[in-house]
Amino acid sequence: MNSTIVEVRNLVKYFPVRTGVIMGRTLGNVKAVDDISFAVSPGETFALVGESGCGKTTVANLILKLLDPTSGEIFFQGKSLKGASGAEIREYRKSVQAVLQDPYGALNPRMRVGHIIGEPLEVHGYSKSERNRRVQDALRAVGLPETSESQFPHEFSGGQRQRIGVARALTLEPTLIILDEPVSNLDVSIRSQVLNLLKDIQDERGISYILITHDLATVEHMSHRIAVMYLGKLVELAGAEEVCDDPAHPYTASLVAAATPLGRTPPWQIPIVGEVPSALQTPSGCAFHPRCAYAMPICSQVIPPLTQLPNGRRVACHLYPDHIDSIDKSAPPPAPEIEDAITQEDTSKADPL
Ligand code: SF4
Repeated sequence: MNSTIVEVRNLVKYFPVRTGVIMGRTLGNVKAVDDISFAVSPGETFALVGESGCGKTTVANLILKLLDPTSGEIFFQGKSLKGASGAEIREYRKSVQAVLQDPYGALNPRMRVGHIIGEPLEVHGYSKSERNRRVQDALRAVGLPETSESQFPHEFSGGQRQRIGVARALTLEPTLIILDEPVSNLDVSIRSQVLNLLKDIQDERGISYILITHDLATVEHMSHRIAVMYLGKLVELAGAEEVCDDPAHPYTASLVAAATPLGRTPPWQIPIVGEVPSALQTPSGCAFHPRCAYAMPICSQVIPPLTQLPNGRRVACHLYPDHIDSIDKSAPPPAPEIEDAITQEDTSKADPL
């Protein structure tokens, strides 16, 4: 048996930006995903975290095969998807499902819930009796009454609709579900119910999750490991507790500080400043350097590689190994001079795809 469910290796996705729709001049590439690698184990929840535009949803779409990578490979249970046959891709699509962010927009309002949940089974050619059995099983798994199948989505609350979305993802008995901001559109009071449901389903069925979110509170609640993304690159990868209790990368630390409730002291006092730069003109060197209070001359010149520290966690930052011990994490650093610090790449040199 394989020790990984899904593995992405050196995954790259660039979107070319042109001056016109037809035969326009290439202005450059939006580097949505820029050489990232990770693997997800059976029964694991692997979180991809970052601000909007960091590339995490593009990673999800690549794994779901809604997009083709510019380069790099995706392996499912040890087998590369490159050159997979049509039958193998159909099996892959059954094994990898998704729960989307918007429980209102994701469900067709004209279809009854039973039809919505059973639709993937219909697409894959299951018999009517098997469809009925699996729909009932999925409704039970998400805690909805069996009579729900004859109702329409508008008859349910936001939390119940998200349960319908989870039920739909379960019918094909997947080994991996991608959860794209699964609770961010729900009331705070409902969020923990849906997250607990997802955890229970994982415990019962051994499903792996890739959890895409910007919300560190969600991540801490249910993830085993966390990968932090910034402008298409992984900047930190470690156990969920390590990342939340002792962030290693200044960007991670600023996300943790921003999510720390008022009145509590974050583990590393770094306020987040400025906005995420354009992915079309990523800053040179470490892309975070214009926003980083600890930036050194090397930071704007050399891209820090994601390297493994002696304690096993991985971080992409020039502070390691020589400079990190000189930093006082309990004192707020001086704010970086954002205007002066921004150095953009010359986009005229951007590689055409
Ligand atoms: Fe800050 Fe430099 Fe580390 Fe980037 S590499 S996070 S700029 S210290």
